[in-house]
Amino acid sequence: MTFKPANNIQDLQYFGEFGGVNPSISDSSTYTFLSAKTMFDTFEGNADGCYLYSRHSSPSNLYLGEALAAMEGTETANVSASGMGAITPVILQLCNAGDHIVSSRTIYGGTYAFLKNFTPKFNIKTSFVDITKLEAVERAITKDTKILYCESVSNPLLEVADIKGLSFIAKKHNLKLVVDNTFSPLSISPAILGADIVIHSLTKFINGSSDTVGGVVCGSQEFIDTLRNVNDGASMLLGPTMDSLRAASILKNLRTLHIRMQQHSKNAMYLAEKFETKGLKTVYPGLKSHPSHELFKRMMNAQYGFGGMLTIDVGSLEKANELMEMMQDKNLGYLAVSLGFYKTLFSAPGTSTSSEIPLEEQQSMGLSDGLIRFSIGLDADIERTFQMMYQCMEVLNIVS
Ligand SMILES: *Cc1c(COP(=O)(O)O)cnc(C)c1O
Repeated sequence: MTFKPANNIQDLQYFGEFGGVNPSISDSSTYTFLSAKTMFDTFEGNADGCYLYSRHSSPSNLYLGEALAAMEGTETANVSASGMGAITPVILQLCNAGDHIVSSRTIYGGTYAFLKNFTPKFNIKTSFVDITKLEAVERAITKDTKILYCESVSNPLLEVADIKGLSFIAKKHNLKLVVDNTFSPLSISPAILGADIVIHSLTKFINGSSDTVGGVVCGSQEFIDTLRNVNDGASMLLGPTMDSLRAASILKNLRTLHIRMQQHSKNAMYLAEKFETKGLKTVYPGLKSHPSHELFKRMMNAQYGFGGMLTIDVGSLEKANELMEMMQDKNLGYLAVSLGFYKTLFSAPGTSTSSEIPLEEQQSMGLSDGLIRFSIGLDADIERTFQMMYQCMEVLNIVS
């Protein structure tokens, strides 16, 4: 049978202890044992179904992890308190001092800052490359390289990674391909395409209600066990543990992700086509003009569309700020970072989410001043939204 991420979530059943249709929320940090021997075995990782201490694992976190693993087609998963709480332990688990990483240069600002400014303290060095050029990726690999790191759809430039091509290179050089799939849940399934480890910030589309931060690492049982190892596991020892109450609420939101992604994608496609027709410089993977449109089409699970993220370039930061303030006044969305909310969110990445990236580097990767990043909301009447946005652009002479 073909891999169907939303079916995989739907087919899982968890009941509460009284037959509730949702699993009971585990509300304990520690667990009692009837015998000292079972406690010892659990500590050693040899007592399946037993819990010891909630930084290590808890029933609620395991339920959410299993649902996300089913969605991504990996053996298992480990949830964490934030997206960065998923990314940083993976990197520190896979690399020792002296190791090297080849990373896309267009990645989330926090990940970029971690690789550029933080890991060098441990003598872990990163080469940043244009991930769309496979020859450049391969050329950057050294004898010390351990990880190929990218985002399926990059933040904020919406570059698309050729995951099959990267997986081929990773296997050839014995590297782990780590893919952050935050921008394209359900649409792209990196593990099915050959990624070894798939990461999400649950804060964005997956939870979808902008009420919490959260993260997940999806991978093999062996790797996830390593992350959770009480002696040398980075997730266990650094301690970015999600709270059980949050795990339960994210699991409930996950069940509507397929419907939300379809609506985000439908609305984003509509606006992108309209903006482009009106002569605005528009970047959206669903547009034929996007350099990786065909690649995205080959990789995607078609029914979820090209995602909810698009960018336009209005020429200058001043214009961008004026437009965003005016759109907010008209209740078309919020001037806010983050993504995946029911309401449209917009920000100028150069001064916000990508401000960790030095100005010269922003310019060299095509991150211009007038760029506005949109996370398109779930608007019921997207045609009206377009008309109102267009009016703002006319008033500000962005279009004529
Ligand atoms: C937001 C984001 C992160 C970081 O996630 P947090 O939940 O904020 O820690 C990582 N990668 C991408 C692509 C993101 O958009």
